[in-house]
Amino acid sequence: MTDRPATIVIVGAGAAGLTGAIAAAQTLAHEGSAGCILLLEGAKHIGAKILVSGGGRCNVTHDIVTPKDFFGNRHIIRNVLAAFPVERTIAWFASLGVELKREPTGKLFPATDKARTVLNALIDGARRAGVTICPDHRVREVIRTETGFLVQHSQGITHASRVMLATGGQSLPKSGSDGFGFELVRRLGHQIAPTAPALVPLVLDHSMFQATLSGLSHDVEITTLIDRREVDRRTGSLLWTHVGISGPVVLDASRFWTLATKRGASIEMYANFVPGQSADTLREWFIAQATQHPKRSLVRTLSALVPDRFTESLCRHQSCEPQTAVAQIPRIDRERMLNALTRFHLPIIGDRGWNVAEVTAGGVPLEEINYRTMESKLVPGLYLLGEMLACDGRIGGFNFQWAWTTGWLAGKSAGRSLIADTTPVHPASSPE
Ligand SMILES: Cc1cc2nc3c(=O)[nH]c(=O)nc-3n(C[C@H](O)[C@H](O)[C@H](O)COP(=O)(O)OP(=O)(O)OC[C@H]3O[C@@H](n4cnc5c(N)ncnc54)[C@H](O)[C@@H]3O)c2cc1C
Repeated sequence: MTDRPATIVIVGAGAAGLTGAIAAAQTLAHEGSAGCILLLEGAKHIGAKILVSGGGRCNVTHDIVTPKDFFGNRHIIRNVLAAFPVERTIAWFASLGVELKREPTGKLFPATDKARTVLNALIDGARRAGVTICPDHRVREVIRTETGFLVQHSQGITHASRVMLATGGQSLPKSGSDGFGFELVRRLGHQIAPTAPALVPLVLDHSMFQATLSGLSHDVEITTLIDRREVDRRTGSLLWTHVGISGPVVLDASRFWTLATKRGASIEMYANFVPGQSADTLREWFIAQATQHPKRSLVRTLSALVPDRFTESLCRHQSCEPQTAVAQIPRIDRERMLNALTRFHLPIIGDRGWNVAEVTAGGVPLEEINYRTMESKLVPGLYLLGEMLACDGRIGGFNFQWAWTTGWLAGKSAGRSLIADTTPVHPASSPE
């Protein structure tokens, strides 16, 4: 592999790299242009992350994708997404032989419910398009030369006219995405916006009652304040775990906690276990209940709003007896419970880290790439794609959509730019 003349080298055979390789190869083939597309992957086996994604089913994308589903420079994100929207993603997968099905949540999965279907289709598609896939080729350095790049890897050195970096972020480092790609791109002159785990479960103080609720999930509204200013409010399913909290609403909000903590800002997260209600509206309801059913226990009364198991744990945590008849509850206890139900300060002491996080917040600033092509504004001929860019999506297939979109855009652009370089210029016809 090492002495073969390569024209486009893609580093990283994850979702973005495989898509980019296929798009580049198809672009060259479409124009009848000869060119070698080499996909270098550090891991011995391709696609570990795709295989574990979506609980082994791979949530390929979402029915509706908007810039609001992502964090980062939304103006740039909007332009990037427009180049390869969901409809094209669906059609593109169909062309690779993968039929997608929509679930009631709006998430799209392969009809087979197997991530393996997606991975095999991408690998087969890449091979069919003429991409040479090289596993066990860990890239150590990318050096600019007068004519292009020298790519140093574990098996030797490869020359490239164009390089597409798709090394992912830092999530799930054992898959091969250990953040070294950031070092490669930093050495080429790019900035790296501070990174932190995103879509990651959070750990609560041991004094909390999470362990007793492990496995229980219910709808909660989470409000995040950084330096006392509200920066995020969202409602969704919260899952109690042995050590803390997870579930879509927590995963989506987690990036605020990890990023703020990393930069030393003060961060508070509050849970409203009765979304849409305040202590005041709940008080009215509670008093009405106490009048209508005075002998009903606190836990039974609240069962109309929250799961019994949760009420029992919350009551004990707030030093209230869950079996007390509602009419007998002292006012001070009632107020404490109402506050705990609607504005509960979550005592977060950490996150589950890179081994559990699904994505990376931070990375190469989007302002440093040309969003029409994904080419670096600093290094001509270098393309950046996928999770290594400072854009992270919420849970639901958005992160893969970002990988397919940026991969496709970069592959097309790199292919076209190579064709433009190699197409002979015809001499202008001489004047009569
Ligand atoms: C457990 C889990 C479940 C997920 N589920 C979903 C889901 O269902 N839907 C969704 O939208 N998103 C999901 N995600 C997120 C999604 O997988 C990522 O956003 C996406 O895979 C990023 O694609 P990428 O190609 O940019 O990076 P990656 O998939 O991380 O690929 C980068 C590749 O580069 C290789 N590499 C790194 N450094 C080098 C080097 N120096 N030399 C050579 N190769 C290198 C790595 O080995 C890796 O193969 C999940 C993530 C995890 C961890």
